[in-house]
Amino acid sequence: MLSNDEFYTLRSQMVEQQLVERGIHNPRVLDAMRRVPRHEFVTADLRHLAYRDCPLPIGDNQTISQPYVVALMTELVNLSGHERVLEVGTGSGYQAAVLCELAAQVYSLERHPRLAERAGQILARLGYNNIEIHVGDGSQGLPDMAPFDAILVTAAAPALPGPLRSQLHPQGGRMVLPVGDERRQFLEVVTRAGNRWEIEQTIPVRFVPLVGRYGFSGRAAFDDPESYV
Ligand code: SAM
Repeated sequence: MLSNDEFYTLRSQMVEQQLVERGIHNPRVLDAMRRVPRHEFVTADLRHLAYRDCPLPIGDNQTISQPYVVALMTELVNLSGHERVLEVGTGSGYQAAVLCELAAQVYSLERHPRLAERAGQILARLGYNNIEIHVGDGSQGLPDMAPFDAILVTAAAPALPGPLRSQLHPQGGRMVLPVGDERRQFLEVVTRAGNRWEIEQTIPVRFVPLVGRYGFSGRAAFDDPESYV
């Protein structure tokens, strides 16, 4: 079992070698990635792998995303500290913790009750108190809490879900999400100005599916959780 100091060393190396070297440069994002203990969000048998350059299984056929992808999505959503943020796809709770470090209030939606409960317990134990976790179909967003200054979707959508689009704040609301088919998606950055939504495509990625009314059906052919980001 590694000590907290050893985990800290591994985390610092992760930030330098996997993030800084690949072009992540926002100091607030890098500091958050240095602070959040990723090993706390995986099961004990996988802790020694927590700072490797890969996703890891978290149960229910789902994954905690690769650190680089978490950092990139966080950098792209461009938080300055005052925002109300919606995350779709709580999973392990790791990305949510990074968002809690950088925004005023985070709402996170997860369709698997067991994952939501486990993530909630870990986040509470680590002292994050600016987060609410909800169980439900995140492709429909959280209309009662809208609008959101930022929305981050951590599962692949076949197209930009209409409800999420309309729950973005009309003045500069920003969303980052993977859009594409079962095999490959592009990370898109969507910026809202009134009734205009500007869409910028960034890198190719492969996420587990967003399963829901405005996502994929539960039967979509996403087969091998090991191959996702
Ligand atoms: N952000 C997570 C983390 O830091 O561990 C990783 C998320 S994992 C790649 C994708 C998550 O999206 C899974 O936990 C999955 O159950 C969830 N998901 C898929 N479809 C969903 C939906 N319609 N609503 C809410 N969560 C959904």
